Amino acid sequence: MARIALDHVEKIYGGGVKALDDLNLEVREGEFMVLVGPSGCGKSTALRSIAGLEEITGGTISIGERVVNDLPPKDRDIAMVFQNYALYPHMTVADNLAFGLKLRHTPKTEIKRRVGEAAAMLGLEPYLGRKPAALSGGQRQRVAMGRAIVREPAAFLMDEPLSNLDAKLRVSMRAALNQLHERLGTTTVYVTHDQVEAMTLGDRVCVLRDGKLQQADTPQELFDAP
Ligand code: ADP
Ligand code: ADP
Repeated sequence: MARIALDHVEKIYGGGVKALDDLNLEVREGEFMVLVGPSGCGKSTALRSIAGLEEITGGTISIGERVVNDLPPKDRDIAMVFQNYALYPHMTVADNLAFGLKLRHTPKTEIKRRVGEAAAMLGLEPYLGRKPAALSGGQRQRVAMGRAIVREPAAFLMDEPLSNLDAKLRVSMRAALNQLHERLGTTTVYVTHDQVEAMTLGDRVCVLRDGKLQQADTPQELFDAP
């Protein structure tokens, strides 16, 4: 678990678009922070910058005690979940879950423990031997989340992870995410267009506008606002 802080962060893309404009944002240790705002306001850029997938052009980003500006994604101790699950089609669910740990040379017994725990938390135990093509959309998204969980990172970064699911599945996945967060307490930044997701998942909801922080409130404060 770690705090994430963006201080005076600027991102100007090659073409000259200023996607983040002196953005200041703090995600507290263990907090589930939802980033919302109109299309083009900089949500994805902010998330990708925290992950190290975009190089920022100004300011600092810290994860825990470390300034991570110069660290590659793999050294930032974060795990990302995207809307397209990016599972390996030729591998079983168990191998998909284990893959990132194998890459990092995690000991076999440790991989087994973590994969077992993640599968139990996500209700994936019956599907460990299946390949992604034989899973429903919701099950695939659970595998994608499982791959993030087994890494036991300091933070989760999620970019609209439920947006490809139908309405009914989104409801059950919201409940699953709430449970996971209660259980793991991992610092999370979650980008969404969906107001219901923002209100039901967020400890705090941050509204971006033109690459700046416009508002940061608890769902209750947002709900009570006139
Ligand atoms: P959001 O996720 O809120 O929709 P983005 O972070 O994707 O916003 O985009 C913020 C701004 O940066 C937009 O004006 C978008 O067109 C621009 N942008 C995003 N990615 C790139 C890129 N790779 N190159 C140039 N401009 C980009
Ligand atoms: P979303 O905002 O839902 O992630 P987009 O369609 O805005 O999806 O962006 C898809 C991809 O294109 C992203 O990787 C984003 O960084 C990139 N992108 C967005 N806007 C631009 C742009 N103006 N120029 C170049 N790339 C862009």
